[in-house]
Amino acid sequence: MKKELAQYRNASVGFVPTMGYLHEGHLSLVRRAREENDIVVMSIFVNPLQFGPNEDFERYPRDEERDAKLAKETGVDLLFVPTVDTMYPEEVNIQVKVSKGTDVLCGRSRPGHFDGVATVLAKFFHIVEPTKTYFGLKDAQQFSVVHSLISQLNFPIQLVGLPTVREEDGLAKSSRNVYLSLEEREDATALYKSLQLGKQLVEQGIKNVANIEEKVVKFIHSNTKAKIDYVELLSYPALNKIETIDDQIILAIAVHYEKARLIYNIILSPDGKQTDTIIK
Ligand code: AMP
Repeated sequence: MKKELAQYRNASVGFVPTMGYLHEGHLSLVRRAREENDIVVMSIFVNPLQFGPNEDFERYPRDEERDAKLAKETGVDLLFVPTVDTMYPEEVNIQVKVSKGTDVLCGRSRPGHFDGVATVLAKFFHIVEPTKTYFGLKDAQQFSVVHSLISQLNFPIQLVGLPTVREEDGLAKSSRNVYLSLEEREDATALYKSLQLGKQLVEQGIKNVANIEEKVVKFIHSNTKAKIDYVELLSYPALNKIETIDDQIILAIAVHYEKARLIYNIILSPDGKQTDTIIK
């Protein structure tokens, strides 16, 4: 990768890190990177460091051939698909530790997950040395961690967060949607509606966080069969617990179906307007 990139000295490099099994969400990041840079680099790496012992590392969907075709068609110049041995040739004895936000949202149910994400991204940033890097706000907590990683470890990289691409019925596109049965797929459409309900409540001027969380939980319980992991309304991007809304917030939910864990969120201003792009 370093050798390939050496040919393009002085070119601006846009970098899109992914775990593959590409869909429109990933491709929207590539398109934006294509518009803004001379060279577009994508990585596809299912990173064992960010999966817990009972998570889906082994069965995470993979289709390298299809991914390579889609990446090329969408304008990726260099596709980096390292093996686990390439990324971790020796026993990992040094990692980036994320020390804030680990007790909220996915941090709580996925201990060590964001350390694994931050560590592999630090490695990719050193390898690719991008000018700009592109992330989806679908994974809003991840975006906030990447922002801290870039600013606190002094990576000279501009961070771009882009809107969640959804199916027509609101389901966020995700490689993990293949784990849903047809019935669950249908059931999951109410999850997007639960976020819309939260948005409406904020728009109506309700400031009490517990009140909004409770109504969203109730909506999910009565309209879906999903098992709730969390429904949380926090400040964003700091991810602090709050009692009342007076600045930008995130309303985020995670639920379990039989084989899939899905996450959804929206970022809102105090008057309920949605933020879907962030450039840092
Ligand atoms: P993943 O392959 O799931 O690790 O995702 C790679 C990148 O694509 C991350 O920055 C994700 O936030 C982003 N992404 C995944 N799904 C979507 C989506 N539905 N809309 C926008 N971005 C997405």
